[in-house]
Amino acid sequence: MLFSLQFEDYLAAIGGSNEVETPETGESFAVQAPEYRIFSRRPMHILDILASPKPSLSFEFFPPKSPEAWEELYETIRNLESLQPSFVSVTYGAGGSTREMTHDLVLRIKQTTSIPPVPHLTCVGHTRDQIQSILERYAAAGVSNILALRGDPPRDQPDYDWSSGDFRHAADLVRFIREFNASGVHPDPRGFGIGVAGFPEGHPATSNRMQELDFLKAKVDEGADYICTQLFFDNHDFLDFRDRCRLAGITVPIIAGLMPVTSLKGMNRMAELAAGARYPAKLIRSLNRAQGDPEAVERAGIHYAAEQCAALLDHGVDGIHFYTLNKSRATREIFRSIGLDAVKPS
Ligand SMILES: Cc1cc2nc3c(=O)[nH]c(=O)nc-3n(C[C@H](O)[C@H](O)[C@H](O)COP(=O)(O)OP(=O)(O)OC[C@H]3O[C@@H](n4cnc5c(N)ncnc54)[C@H](O)[C@@H]3O)c2cc1C
Repeated sequence: MLFSLQFEDYLAAIGGSNEVETPETGESFAVQAPEYRIFSRRPMHILDILASPKPSLSFEFFPPKSPEAWEELYETIRNLESLQPSFVSVTYGAGGSTREMTHDLVLRIKQTTSIPPVPHLTCVGHTRDQIQSILERYAAAGVSNILALRGDPPRDQPDYDWSSGDFRHAADLVRFIREFNASGVHPDPRGFGIGVAGFPEGHPATSNRMQELDFLKAKVDEGADYICTQLFFDNHDFLDFRDRCRLAGITVPIIAGLMPVTSLKGMNRMAELAAGARYPAKLIRSLNRAQGDPEAVERAGIHYAAEQCAALLDHGVDGIHFYTLNKSRATREIFRSIGLDAVKPS
């Protein structure tokens, strides 16, 4: 992701929500729950899920900033739960109260749905003690997995001082979680399962792609047990990335990140957020055919993503992670159009 952008504000804006303008209150409206059943499950690492011959199918949400948007998100989760995702993940923002909301949303999903939640955790600007207490809280709640990330500096600090926190790279956070796991604090003797980010088209801060793979391998060598990728629109980028990982000795499962284009505005914003993401001519041509009609643009974007998804499954991908932007429609349409919504035997 591009430096100096507030991750979740941009996700909200791309998703078409107006909540970006809503001031952060830090109130606990996030936990006003809909009527759900209470589930208790045995601990499941994402690696256990990925051990199945079937690819994992997962969704990403971000904590909204207004009570209305929370209601919409609960509705989205209800709509998507019927698709029986393998897990869902919840992003971690730059500000204090949004970070608390990540925790609230993860626990709400864990306690009231059948879906394992995976909190994202960024280490930029955090001290070791802060990360320790975040991990302790998740462990006490029986959360089984963490997506360990570096995060980006705040957008108003282009000359961010990297020495202001105890962690410099995501690999440092992975090592810290592994040490936490060994301390026996987590009720699961294995501790947390650990995921990390991968960038099929490369991360903008590292221009040397060979070196970048070494940095990715370092995260895996520190203890990450799967990789989830940045979104991409050309499967060749992902498949080549997967091959390059294998050649570099990175053998853990790699989950492909997919985001359907549902509006031209959203596409332009995402081009900024996911810096370096390339929109292939084939996609642009199909969106151009819609001649600016919003519904036709959405249909074209969903159709493109569905084809991308089917081809990835044909190529034996370990899993697909859908960047839902807190909406259910596009993901449900993709599932429907390629037959993924078939009722699964229990
Ligand atoms: C699946 C996914 C989920 C995300 N979720 C969030 C989220 O919830 N919240 C959020 O704020 N952001 C999120 N991001 C964005 C992410 O935090 C940024 O893209 C960030 O810049 C990179 O994070 P990382 O974990 O890959 O960092 P790192 O692995 O630390 O890499 C960051 C940069 O440093 C380089 N590097 C790594 N190790 C070294 C080293 N030893 N020496 C020199 N350079 C090195 C890498 O090549 C890369 O260019 C997500 C990204 C992805 C792909």
